Amino acid sequence: MSLSDVTTRIAAAEARAGRAPGSAQLIAVSKVQPEDRVTAVLDAGHRLFGENRVQEAEERWTPLRDRYDGVVLHLIGPLQTNKVKKAFDLFDAIQTVDRDKLARKIADEAQARGACPSLFVQVNTGEEPQKAGVPPLEADAFLETCRDEYGLQIAGLMCIPPAEEAPSPHFALLRKIAERNGIAGLSMGMSADFEDAISLGATHVRVGSGVFGERDYG
Ligand SMILES: *Cc1c(COP(=O)(O)O)cnc(C)c1O
Repeated sequence: MSLSDVTTRIAAAEARAGRAPGSAQLIAVSKVQPEDRVTAVLDAGHRLFGENRVQEAEERWTPLRDRYDGVVLHLIGPLQTNKVKKAFDLFDAIQTVDRDKLARKIADEAQARGACPSLFVQVNTGEEPQKAGVPPLEADAFLETCRDEYGLQIAGLMCIPPAEEAPSPHFALLRKIAERNGIAGLSMGMSADFEDAISLGATHVRVGSGVFGERDYG
């Protein structure tokens, strides 16, 4: 796969689902990828990227943003409360809001700045103990707390289905939670399953290796 393969397949999946072109946005997940692969995708005109670590994102994207206009960055990995300020400096969206303490910290920072990144709540649809995210049964209450107690506007929900399970039931569950809470954004689907996610309503797919090639963790 490559950037153009992925964008072609996204367009085909949108069409098959009777969805508008561009209704599923590609987040190119650049974590761990060498810089030449990232600049190749930037040179091809792509501007929406995902990173899972605040520190790594800062080191990579501070210089790249000087060279490329219009970069949009989403945080797709866990956020510690002591990095909220830095996350506000760097990211246009935080997709991993998943606990009260973090929501409160984000609300405080948003209040102080008069601005806030776009926010997604991560739902642990597989209820995996090692994985971040709000358990599905607590999602409605957490969303209510975010809105009513902290005044946060939640743009979407995000999930990472268990690696060893069919992803579609997880995508369908995330969509159901979003629908009953009046939330429009759905960040779901990765290299192996982004077409399934689009058929189930994904507004954002997060594709790493499909765009850049396999990650080398060395
Ligand atoms: C790494 C990562 C991805 C991309 O995974 P690929 O399988 O390489 O497409 C998507 N979402 C999250 C949260 C990730 O950490």
